[in-house]
Amino acid sequence: MKPKVFITRPVPEAVLSKIATECEIEWHQQDQSLSREELAEHLRDREGVLCQITDRIDDTVMAKAPVLKVIANVAVGYDNIDLASASRRGILVTNTPDVLTDTTADLAFALLLATARRIAEADRFVRSGQWKEWKLDLLQGTDVHHSRLGIIGLGRIGRAVARRAKGFAMNILYWMPRRASSEVENELGVTYVDKDTLLRESDFISLHVPLRPDTHHLIGRAELGQMKPTAILINTARGPIVDEKSLVEALREGRIAGAGLDVFEDEPRVNSELLAMSTVVLAPHIGSASRQTRLRMAEMAAENLVAGVTGRIPRNVVNRELTVMASASRSSR
Ligand code: NAP
Repeated sequence: MKPKVFITRPVPEAVLSKIATECEIEWHQQDQSLSREELAEHLRDREGVLCQITDRIDDTVMAKAPVLKVIANVAVGYDNIDLASASRRGILVTNTPDVLTDTTADLAFALLLATARRIAEADRFVRSGQWKEWKLDLLQGTDVHHSRLGIIGLGRIGRAVARRAKGFAMNILYWMPRRASSEVENELGVTYVDKDTLLRESDFISLHVPLRPDTHHLIGRAELGQMKPTAILINTARGPIVDEKSLVEALREGRIAGAGLDVFEDEPRVNSELLAMSTVVLAPHIGSASRQTRLRMAEMAAENLVAGVTGRIPRNVVNRELTVMASASRSSR
């Protein structure tokens, strides 16, 4: 008998048929998220679930899924899943790292360029018929090349952003608790500084840390207060990493110059003041949204799902302690 799995939202047909060769599938065909209650109901007899970041899989949901073995998230971030609870219950959680790194770094850089050079504003200006003639002071932005970029979180995406910044001859600072190796620093041409120095000295600050209790509101009123009044903040990581209320205040009061935001504290709701600010460029959480990358992410999550329900160890397990236990018990047999 094939293991039973649930797919919470539509995925490409090719991915569905691959899963179907090894699993009995039930899937939610409407492209909208299920409530936690609906999700729990569907997971009652399922061994695996292929889910997306809009699905909140917490302890209450897992408690109602007694045979669940694997939660395959179609994302690299997994803050929508209660990892501690999954580990306690012996449920593998998988993500989709690497395949989306360059695509997300492209978006971070696109937001950086768009905010610095006022691209969204310029587009609105042309479309609304306001462009009458060339003027020396028309829509002046700020230079990206040869400016200073501060990267918070020099992981996969942070490093990919650094590679792009190098091409723009930017001076690159980075900060995170664990310093990168000297090989990585030399390859990227980045300088390790403390958080205060990065906040004080950067012209652009780009966030690339996971959302966890220790990164919630990592950028708050105090941090925004340390930034240059000409600085621009880019967030393609997760909304709650920035205290959005303090960000709005800092932008309103001109304590920082602008922001490029792909993620928000209460998605899909966007603060009404942000919507009205011309110094802010907004995107609807599309960091990894290229056709190629979204397909690869779905394929990778599907491979993880199938491996997890057919007794193999998926490639991208996040709660690795479970795989260590599984390998140990196999080798003692
Ligand atoms: P990653 O390779 O794990 O990089 C995260 C980096 O942040 C690591 O270098 C990590 O350092 C560092 N870090 C951890 N805690 C920190 C802290 N408290 N302060 C500062 N740095 C800290 O992850 P990634 O693949 O680059 O992805 C990063 C995040 O981007 C994801 O978690 C996801 O939420 C977000 N993302 C968003 C989109 C989008 O659509 N907008 C797309 C993809 C990813 P250690 O290695 O020392 O822990």
